[in-house]
Amino acid sequence: MSTRLFVFGRQGAGKGTQCVRLAQHYGIPHISTGDMLRGAVAEGTELGLKAKVLMDAGDLVPDEVMEGIVVERLAKPDAQAGWLLDGYPRTLGQVEAMERNLGEDFVDLAVNLDVPVEIVTERMMSRGREDDTEEAIRRRLELYEEQTAPVLAFFEPRDQLVTVDGVGTEDEVFERLVKVIDAALADPVGA
Ligand code: AMP
Repeated sequence: MSTRLFVFGRQGAGKGTQCVRLAQHYGIPHISTGDMLRGAVAEGTELGLKAKVLMDAGDLVPDEVMEGIVVERLAKPDAQAGWLLDGYPRTLGQVEAMERNLGEDFVDLAVNLDVPVEIVTERMMSRGREDDTEEAIRRRLELYEEQTAPVLAFFEPRDQLVTVDGVGTEDEVFERLVKVIDAALADPVGA
């Protein structure tokens, strides 16, 4: 049985940390598009140079660019028995790209790690990452509501969306996530 997970959450929801733990727990690769892009920026590749400007402004990298990166990554041997995608798909166009490349059955479960806007804003202001200017934070949260909320709305009627309260200690939230994901995977759609 494969485990293919999308994990959604506003920037600052603690998604990265939880995704690392979840991937380890389920024995699947953690594929973070943000990490891949930051890697490209650090290496100074052509993609990195283009992406940096957008990332610094809190804007999204175009869907076509993301599609290439993700399709290539998911084709690697370690991703054949499942994966955890962290930060993708972020737009309906990216959902369509998944469907186009992987077929209609392209994911097992979408997990929404929910932390209210006020709390993530506070957290992001205090973590001091280089791309965390006040303007970029505002822009990312705005785009999340605009572009990513419709993605969640896409999975809901397919019975492939679970929402987990992301407020609490790291361990508390992790336990909640595992419980909800295990229950959803044990009772797949149509079973
Ligand atoms: P993250 O670490 O997921 O918050 O991503 C950091 C930045 O990388 C985002 O603010 C975007 O500029 C870019 N990025 C990451 N994933 C995507 C994606 N799926 N689509 C477009 N841009 C992305």
